[in-house]
Amino acid sequence: MKNLTCKLLVIGGGPGGYVCAIRAAQLGVETIIVEERAYGGTCLTVGCIPSKALIHAADEFARLTEFAEGKSALGLAASHPSIDFARTVAWKDSIVDRLTGGVKGLLKKAGAKAIEGTATFVDGKTVRVEGEEESYEIEAENVVIATGSEPVELPFLPFGDTVIDSTGALALDKIPERLAIVGGGYIGLEIGSAYAKLGSNVTVVEAERNILPQYDAALTRPVLKSLADLGVTVMTETRAKGLASAGLEVEKSDGSAEVLAAERILVTVGRRPRSKGAGIPELDLTMDRNFIAIDNRCRTSMRGIYAIGDVTGEPMLAHRAMAQGEMVAEIVAGGKREWDKVAIPAVCFTDPEIVTCGLSPDEARTRDIDVITGQFPFTANGRAMTMESEAGFVRVVARRSDHLVLGIQAVGKGVSELSAAFALALEMGARLEDVAGTIHAHPTQSEGFLEAALAALGHALHI
Ligand code: FAD
Ligand code: NAD
Repeated sequence: MKNLTCKLLVIGGGPGGYVCAIRAAQLGVETIIVEERAYGGTCLTVGCIPSKALIHAADEFARLTEFAEGKSALGLAASHPSIDFARTVAWKDSIVDRLTGGVKGLLKKAGAKAIEGTATFVDGKTVRVEGEEESYEIEAENVVIATGSEPVELPFLPFGDTVIDSTGALALDKIPERLAIVGGGYIGLEIGSAYAKLGSNVTVVEAERNILPQYDAALTRPVLKSLADLGVTVMTETRAKGLASAGLEVEKSDGSAEVLAAERILVTVGRRPRSKGAGIPELDLTMDRNFIAIDNRCRTSMRGIYAIGDVTGEPMLAHRAMAQGEMVAEIVAGGKREWDKVAIPAVCFTDPEIVTCGLSPDEARTRDIDVITGQFPFTANGRAMTMESEAGFVRVVARRSDHLVLGIQAVGKGVSELSAAFALALEMGARLEDVAGTIHAHPTQSEGFLEAALAALGHALHI
């Protein structure tokens, strides 16, 4: 057993933890980080990155198929589209390897000591790490808990060969013929659309009235249309009941039951924080349900212990974890920082993609804010036409009294890349006139943002 001391110990090498360690080390803080699986965490190894790789591969294959079926309006044709799925998986894995290796390199370059092993609190200042080759007892002035989250398992659908979680769905060696998905949220729809494009017969079972229930119907409508075009069956107000010999048993809201034939059942009903291990319960920290409760500096109820990322609650997004990690590193280094972000953008990488940032019109009204809105459809956007991606729109929500932009939403192909402009506008406190007064390059989909602001002001130019 080796004894080590440091100013900052980070438990968990996901986006929250590794960013925290890099930034702290850059600032000269003596930093150790511990990871039990792979640096990069859920996001890089079994989440954001491999899922987006699969989505890209599926998009490419779907285009080939479309060309082969003679459906290309551009006159493009292809014959006998095929996919060597083993190569697709190897390509996806190579990206994951490059990125996880890159994270280790960045930690080293910044001067953080990265240890591989499982960390467990002995007390609030001491952590034991069991590694494959070496064990450590580390005494730290400050500890950051960045242990992340894991998939929720339904008791009547235990994970195994047939019932899989997102990690299993991203590691299949064969494209399933029939895939039943429980949960029409982020993961179910992103991975479900990808497998539908790769040729699976996909059914999505969602308990609520709408898929992606956190978004309004206008935003999800183009996604529903595209799912229907892909042949995906969406069963809303339907719950999974259990495993049947031929597949998944479901119950609809009217009480009727049905068995969906499926070779694989993907359960994506949310993720839960990893707050039950690592000796965390013994610290007796104040909790917010299963999440570790934090204040606006990510401090927990115990002095010197911080928590960041998925283990601290919604939204469980990599960029939130990273922003918290960066902030905590600066605080530990003596900086005066607190969580003062106006908004956290969220992107759902369905086809088409959905971006939300700040308040939707309904959320603003629920808060009794008098708002005006402006919407611009991609059917009137030249760039969208040239890319055959006219479904969707950009919508801007602003306070009526002073035109302060409170929220921006978009749905459309490739709109994830507009999320930076949306977040910047909110963070900078832009008014509709600021957006309308900014020259947006032509022809780009971003002109939809300009036009939505103009529409809110009552004088859109291109509709
Ligand atoms: P994690 O990334 O979960 O990392 C925590 C790390 O801590 C893990 O590596 C774990 O091994 C380690 N750990 C836990 N306990 C210990 C211990 N005792 N000792 C040592 N190490 C420990 N978010 C987005 O923003 N965009 C997306 O497109 C997106 N896509 C996703 C797709 C899927 C399929 C999934 C599952 C998630 C996706 N997410 C996405 C969510 C994103 O992955 C998480 O929000 C993000 O990874 C959270 O970062 P984190 O650092 O809090 O935790
Ligand atoms: P989710 O919360 O997005 O969706 C879960 C869905 O399952 C909900 O719509 C819910 O109503 C439904 N549901 C719950 N119980 C059910 C039941 N018994 N039967 C049928 N439906 C049921 O959760 P997820 O898709 O597992 O994703 C987890 C988290 O990971 C997300 O909330 C998000 O924070 C993160 N994530 C983000 C991205 C992204 O940013 N693009 C992508 C994937 C995951």
